[in-house]
Amino acid sequence: MPSPVRVRFAPSPTGPLHVGGLRTALYNYLLAKKNSGSFILRIEDTDTKREVEGSYKYIEEALNWCGLTPDESPSLGGEYGPYKQSERKGIYKEYINELIENGSAYYAFDRAEDLDKHRKNHEKRGKTFIYNAHNRLKLVNSLSLKKNEVEDLLKTTPYVVRFRMPEEKVIGFYDEIRGKIEVSSRELDDKVLFKSDQMPTYHFANVVDDHLMNISHVIRGEEWLPSLPLHVLLYKSFGWSPPSFAHIPLILKPSGKGKLSKRDGKKFGFPVFPLKWENGEEEYVGFKEFGILPEVLINYMALLGWSKRDNKEVYLIDELIESFDIDSVGKSGVKFDFEKLIWLNTQHIQKLSSEDIIKRLSELGEENGLAVSKDAIDLIKPRLDRLGDIEIEYGYLFGQQEVETGLKHKLMNDDSLSFLRKYKTALEKSFGNAEELKALLNECSTIGFGKSMGAMRLCLVGKLAGPDLFELMVFLGKDEVLKRVGSILV
Ligand code: GLU
Repeated sequence: MPSPVRVRFAPSPTGPLHVGGLRTALYNYLLAKKNSGSFILRIEDTDTKREVEGSYKYIEEALNWCGLTPDESPSLGGEYGPYKQSERKGIYKEYINELIENGSAYYAFDRAEDLDKHRKNHEKRGKTFIYNAHNRLKLVNSLSLKKNEVEDLLKTTPYVVRFRMPEEKVIGFYDEIRGKIEVSSRELDDKVLFKSDQMPTYHFANVVDDHLMNISHVIRGEEWLPSLPLHVLLYKSFGWSPPSFAHIPLILKPSGKGKLSKRDGKKFGFPVFPLKWENGEEEYVGFKEFGILPEVLINYMALLGWSKRDNKEVYLIDELIESFDIDSVGKSGVKFDFEKLIWLNTQHIQKLSSEDIIKRLSELGEENGLAVSKDAIDLIKPRLDRLGDIEIEYGYLFGQQEVETGLKHKLMNDDSLSFLRKYKTALEKSFGNAEELKALLNECSTIGFGKSMGAMRLCLVGKLAGPDLFELMVFLGKDEVLKRVGSILV
């Protein structure tokens, strides 16, 4: 392991943090913490056109909510700042000049419409236009033009800086997850490194910053693997040694093909962002508001692509830090499984004390106006699979609920009503503990134990679900139970 371990999460502020980004951040965080290293948040905002207001704040809040607080970031600062690429323009200028001087990069003056024409002409002939060694001398750039022409154009025309991709070269590199990879430079183009707006492109800024910030490991999504040959060559052109790389597999839709997108969340009915996101017309509920605990989201994200041989599934962050290793990350895409996330949420909730659950409900604003007591949580905890919508899911704890339509006829039948009358009269006289209430129900039951329980459940809960009926009766107390049964009998 190179020392010190310094990893970075480098999102572009183009919207809220998606689960894919969150998992990338998590794997970086785990590797850093396992090796007493540093986890850095760098904002890659060189593409100003794609920037979405509020993204940076959202990313930071989401990471903090999940407990993945960076050691260095635009807000926290650090030895290697600034951590926003838009604040590092001067640095990139200096480094691009170095590549131009050593012949690894060159100025290009081609107009967009001319490049378009070349593309179309190639297409007509069934070919793909690639700006590289095969045709760069026929195009308008500092390799094809005379020195004085270049000097004139630099003063008068917008230009870009392109990487001079070697003509025939096998580029070999190593990915921690995929092993050794070789790519021929024949298929690669002279990528733009510096744009006409004097901003670096992602590739250039990313490599320069990873080097200057002393990044030891780059862990990022698989979608960046095709960029790796260029990045490796950029390191070579500067004479720098590259960090180690790991490209993690995509998170796929729960069913069907392709990457999980924000639209899938709406389609399948689950969140895809950690926190609520509102932007003009767009509005998304986050995992937080849905009632998923942050430690569960982290536990689940860790399992999406990574697993230990012992098949353990419920982890707290410290256990993840201890167990995580990049070698156990799989190569193939993993389907997002919302049921499993809910299952994990239930597992983690069972480990919390009722007091802790109440605290978290109040942080979520869920107990607003509801009489959420320790007794109430003790009663429903075994059934609690998420903290959101407590009023919708467990409203019967706080007040009488309408009997679900379709179940009414069960109550309306004469036999059930006469049982309820009998039980109510008995309860008025003696309202004991759960066991006594059960024995009393048995005594009064004229319709069989199951049906009697069902009728009582409908009075108290409004549906044929809920916690142990007799414990619920104890929790509600004599007056409330009699009131609820009475209101059905009138
Ligand atoms: N800015 C890139 C992104 O948003 C970072 C990719 C990388 O980690 O190199 O995904």
